[in-house]
Amino acid sequence: MKRNEINALVRKNIASLCPYSTARDEYQGGIGIFLDANESPYENGFNRYPDPHQKSLKARLGQIKGMATENIFLGNGSDEAIDLIFRIFCNPGIDNAVAIAPSYGMYGVAAGINDIELREVQLGNGFSLPTDELLKACDAHTKAIFLCSPNNPNGNAFPREDLLRIIDSFRGMVVVDEAYIDFSSIPSLKEEVLERPNLIVLQTLSKAWGMAGLRLGMAFADEYVIRLMSAVKYPYNINKSAQDSVLRLLEESVEGKVRETVSERTRVARELEQLSCVQTVFQSEANFLLVKVNDADSIYGQLIEEGIIVRNRSRIKGCESCLRITIGTREENDRLLSSLRTIK
Ligand code: PMP
Repeated sequence: MKRNEINALVRKNIASLCPYSTARDEYQGGIGIFLDANESPYENGFNRYPDPHQKSLKARLGQIKGMATENIFLGNGSDEAIDLIFRIFCNPGIDNAVAIAPSYGMYGVAAGINDIELREVQLGNGFSLPTDELLKACDAHTKAIFLCSPNNPNGNAFPREDLLRIIDSFRGMVVVDEAYIDFSSIPSLKEEVLERPNLIVLQTLSKAWGMAGLRLGMAFADEYVIRLMSAVKYPYNINKSAQDSVLRLLEESVEGKVRETVSERTRVARELEQLSCVQTVFQSEANFLLVKVNDADSIYGQLIEEGIIVRNRSRIKGCESCLRITIGTREENDRLLSSLRTIK
């Protein structure tokens, strides 16, 4: 799709929106007497509004990710970006979106909040991407397709050619949620946004980067799409404390921790496969394993009694009898394994 075709997908009220202009948009000089934003003048480290454009943080993340700042949106978690995509492209009560299932629950919740029908297309055998079925589920009112790769809750990554085929065939926005990409051997699609203005790639600092508590999600997209997201977001969506803390934490490499999580994933998967209560450990490119067990409810309850909390996904279609287990530290994983060994 071309950039001018994206314009036609945008809700009319958003395309004509005049975004809020902050005091700091109007005056961008450094030092002075700031009597423009009705802030408190008494310094305590937080009395001034934060940078609404997150310039320093975007510059640093741009360096790390190899992307221009014009192609980066920063949100209060990637959950903010998911909500904004519905608000920008989907007319409430009229338009719809398509998503794979099972997948991340917030696509459905954000669709519901925005009064948008979410059409879920079940993954194929072995959680494969049902490319044709996804495209068939779309109609003239489908504005977005949500894909998640590696997918939550099972952890597989979809072939790049299949994802590109959907992006290139669909006349609407395609969101590829790469929350778990740092644990995957498969490369990100983010550079493809430069050629494909209907692609939005989501990533987050909540997983591999260890900053879930700071709430920092990223969207990579064509600069026109980024401008729309920036116009619709709350002006000060990333608070000062988060901007400063993220910048500081980005200086510490997480490579070693990611490598350890990936090698623990292999070890835990192998150990789980030996257990009598385990039927299948699904192949994962993420920091969790979906595990089919003999009796999910009972094992979930027994683990809780031992102070080990996993996610019971057994009531989700396609995940019957399954628990989703996050990879912890080596010691935590050993505790999990030894608890499971006592279960018949
Ligand atoms: N996408 C997926 C696939 C996720 O699993 C999650 C969190 N569980 C998110 C997005 C949201 O991440 P964030 O913390 O950045 O809002």
